[in-house]
Amino acid sequence: MIIKPRIRGFICTTAHPRGCAAAVDQQIAHVKEAGPIGSGGKRALIVGASGGYGLSSRVVVAFGCGAGTVGVSFEKAPEESRTATAGWYINRAFDARAKRAGLYAKSFDGDAFSDAMKEQVIAAIKADLGQIDLLVYSLASPVRQHPRTGVLHRSAIKPLGAVKHFKTLNVDRGVVHEVDLEPATAEETAATVQVMGGEDWEFWIDALAKANVLARGFRTISYTYIGSDLTWPIYWEGTLGKAKEDLDRAALAMRARLKAVEGDARVAVMKAVVTQASTAIPVVPLYASLLFRVMKDARVHEDCIAQIDRLFRTQVYGSSRAEDRAGGGGAMRLDDVGRIRMDERELAAPIQNEVRRRWPLVSTENVAELADLEGFRADFLKIFGFGLPGVDYEADLDPALADL
Ligand code: NAD
Repeated sequence: MIIKPRIRGFICTTAHPRGCAAAVDQQIAHVKEAGPIGSGGKRALIVGASGGYGLSSRVVVAFGCGAGTVGVSFEKAPEESRTATAGWYINRAFDARAKRAGLYAKSFDGDAFSDAMKEQVIAAIKADLGQIDLLVYSLASPVRQHPRTGVLHRSAIKPLGAVKHFKTLNVDRGVVHEVDLEPATAEETAATVQVMGGEDWEFWIDALAKANVLARGFRTISYTYIGSDLTWPIYWEGTLGKAKEDLDRAALAMRARLKAVEGDARVAVMKAVVTQASTAIPVVPLYASLLFRVMKDARVHEDCIAQIDRLFRTQVYGSSRAEDRAGGGGAMRLDDVGRIRMDERELAAPIQNEVRRRWPLVSTENVAELADLEGFRADFLKIFGFGLPGVDYEADLDPALADL
């Protein structure tokens, strides 16, 4: 099969095995070039490990800290006439590279919200690692079947209170347009909190603690987005913001609970990047492509791996390198509710003022100029393994390709 991108709205229904492996290689190279991360944990569990911030976290702790990793994600295997989802190839490529580097790696495919998955993962930790030093909780899902009630909750990405008018971008067609979004009902808001809030993160910690697999000094991190007034109506002040508030609640509760192992639980506020999850949020593609243009011009842009590398190198773990310590290694940059802030470059006044200045001006005619439409598209295709240098995209491949 000759595998080409097939884009439907904000998803690509094909993925390129060799390209996905090349994307993993790029991330590993980024971390290796930055050098080892001094005092990192050596045994980590990453929930939501196959893409976006979770994949970068796995790469950083493995190839930066030398950690053995267990990854959990929800991906589809290939069929005869269909490629697998990108994360399926990515997990295989990651596991192969980790093993070649002498690092333990095991990837589980299935529903992280279920008790069965938690049991399987804990059994593997007990058998292979004994305990873990780190849990990165980086799930982004549209649905969650509640493990206790069996109810299938569906998240809704909607504003709250009243109909809100938004400017947004169809990335595929390069069209800037306006949309009206109906406010969420109370049920939709509650369901979004069920899916994207902190309860499942707490369930993981409860299960791991009960099984006595949390090492002394154990840390757990989950990711949030706050953004600026341009995205607040759809994000922080919408259903997603309510879910993320619940993540803050969970972090606080878990910080108290983890005192027993001298542990810590933190939410890290990350910058906007292109991932499967973020492209599905209205407004984000327009905001992010304007932001990327402005941040790239100011030479402060970071992609997924650059953000996560800086997070672990300067905030989560100290660094053995003097220049990293000068950049804040060891001491965490926390806000008033104890979140780690990694969005300080995105939110810097000169960056936001410039994005805000461009916002009313941007249209279909000038979007390629005022915004980084090409960069956004390239990042989007890269998620699915397309557009990577050195990959033969004309090659006839078996989609079940095993040697990644
Ligand atoms: P992503 O879509 O790239 O990754 C989501 C991961 O979750 C994948 O590995 C997927 O397989 C996994 N997953 C989804 N449902 C699952 C299930 N039921 N069981 C097991 N695995 C499942 O998403 P992302 O953008 O990297 O988001 C990760 C976290 O980062 C989210 O909490 C998100 O809010 C946060 N965040 C993202 C951005 C951004 O701009 N993308 C910014 C700040 C914070």
